[in-house]
Amino acid sequence: MQTQALHLLRTVFGYDSFRGQQAAIIDTVCAGGDALVLMPTGAGKSLCFQIPALARSGVGVVVSPLIALMQDQVLTLQEAGVRAAMLNSALSAEKAAATERQLLAGELDLIYVAPERLLTGRFLDLLDRLNDVRNGGPGIALFAIDEAHCVSQWGHDFRPEYLQLSMLHERWPQVPRIALTATADGRTQQEIIHRLGLENAQVFLSSFDRPNIRYRVTPKQNGREQLLRYLREQHPGDAGIVYCLSRNKVEDTAAWLGEQGIPALPYHAGLSSQQREQNQNRFLNEDGIVMVATIAFGMGIDKPDVRFVAHLDLPKSLEAYYQETGRAGRDGLPASAWMAYGLQDAVTLRQMLSQGDASETQKRVELAKLNAMLGYAEVTTCRRQVLLNYFGESGHPPCGNCDNCLEPPETFDGTIVAQKALSCVFRTGQRFGVGYLIDVLLGKDDDRIQQFGHHALSVFGIGKELDDKDWKSAYRQLVAAGYLRVDHDSHGALKLTEESRPLLKGEIKIQLRKELRGRKKKTSRETAFSNDADETLWNALRDKRRELAKEHSVPPYVIFHDATLKAMLEQRPSSMGELAQISGVGARKLEAYGSEFLEVLLEHG
Ligand code: ADP
Ligand code: ZN
Repeated sequence: MQTQALHLLRTVFGYDSFRGQQAAIIDTVCAGGDALVLMPTGAGKSLCFQIPALARSGVGVVVSPLIALMQDQVLTLQEAGVRAAMLNSALSAEKAAATERQLLAGELDLIYVAPERLLTGRFLDLLDRLNDVRNGGPGIALFAIDEAHCVSQWGHDFRPEYLQLSMLHERWPQVPRIALTATADGRTQQEIIHRLGLENAQVFLSSFDRPNIRYRVTPKQNGREQLLRYLREQHPGDAGIVYCLSRNKVEDTAAWLGEQGIPALPYHAGLSSQQREQNQNRFLNEDGIVMVATIAFGMGIDKPDVRFVAHLDLPKSLEAYYQETGRAGRDGLPASAWMAYGLQDAVTLRQMLSQGDASETQKRVELAKLNAMLGYAEVTTCRRQVLLNYFGESGHPPCGNCDNCLEPPETFDGTIVAQKALSCVFRTGQRFGVGYLIDVLLGKDDDRIQQFGHHALSVFGIGKELDDKDWKSAYRQLVAAGYLRVDHDSHGALKLTEESRPLLKGEIKIQLRKELRGRKKKTSRETAFSNDADETLWNALRDKRRELAKEHSVPPYVIFHDATLKAMLEQRPSSMGELAQISGVGARKLEAYGSEFLEVLLEHG
């Protein structure tokens, strides 16, 4: 089996070797066993059922919850010469009937189907006929249940139809099943096993690390100016997603980026579905579009060459953050997750939380999640370790690919600074926000301070050793660490907590992060070209890809991934034989596009 699988990997998909646990998973399924696959986004789940579907006799039946996901995979497979099709509500009756005929005639290797359609009496009968090998049916190679976490009633992607998929095993017990998801937590995993009757399945749990994503968090000053600088320095011409909390901010940011010459489009639930679809299609089909979006955008976006995900506002939890940033770099090439964050983010999110209509228990859970998010934003050690620990993977060494690893922040004994900050909160009656507190510490001559008589307090003007920016940073870190809390019933005033007392009394010490200043940050791009010739060839290859994509009405990445173009750039193949050696160039694509790319390569040789 193993040699056949490898042969398929090389000839059909054009890749050299299996990654991670792919080979073991494929072996299990090819041998007729059930598998539960938990792998992070971009690790290569699809091949785990696509190759067994090709290797085993009969058609592979893939259950997929979203039309966009299906379309993407079917197009990609068809481009690779695989006989794949889909059945969903977006198809006309005639097209659906034709696909069903092809299925019964054994003319398909893979059929993608939406769960609600699979569960209809008509489709179940069709499966019976497919499986009736004695009467000429082609057979069913396997059932693949993609996005298997949709069975979880606690998750946000719950799909009630998924609960009924356990019947597949009851009705066709000899057909192997493979369930796949990128959702890592143990509870969801148990629920999938239980709901789908996968007690005997072999579980393949991969690390959820995304080593090609570089994490960066920066204190927010003027968020969008910082974003613009980051895009210009690190990601010129790249496609990416910018997440904002509100619809207004999405609109403003997209328009503003547009004025600065960055091709940006907005996406949020307030736009018409037509407008959303149009923007999404442009993001998928054109190179280098920046999508500015609320969290409404992302589910089912399988674009492999999203080079960055930026957050202009703090997400509500590390779960959300990891899911959103995980949309970057699915193709395995360097990508980055960048976030600008300030104290106001914490204030706003806590306010939304306390004013929401969730139960008290729910609010406590969400508050704990928000606090973990804040902790991540303020941490001075490896960020990837914090993320992986949070998801239950301990023991990873510092990653060397996050801001804290690359430019370790300096810390200082901040005990005195913290005491001054806390005393100022206490002496002014725990009724004021950060701006006012800092004015008092800096001894500002201000009407409001005079009016409250706070110029006479012992804390007035005792903080002149630091400036406004440093004090902001100190307050932010104190809130994140739980020494202060934001009170929403009194307009974001800071209040002391249980934890504040030992710090105020000098019983404990605190280390604070020094803000970077004047220190030169490395600005070299991860994807920089070694010379101009490379850049010219790169652009020529991308132009050719765009031209062919237009011609075939598919997104550019369906023709070739960036990783494949990059391999061409590095290896400079000069014959069809050499081109066939490039990772991502399968037999069918070589035949369809090989000569056109070779022409470009020779021209720039
Ligand atoms: P997932 O579904 O896990 O998010 P995909 O199945 O979409 O990931 O795979 C991500 C990318 O990695 C795809 O472009 C795929 O072609 C590529 N890929 C998968 N397996 C391999 C491999 N063994 N070698 C090279 N590239 C691979
Ligand atoms: Zn790190």
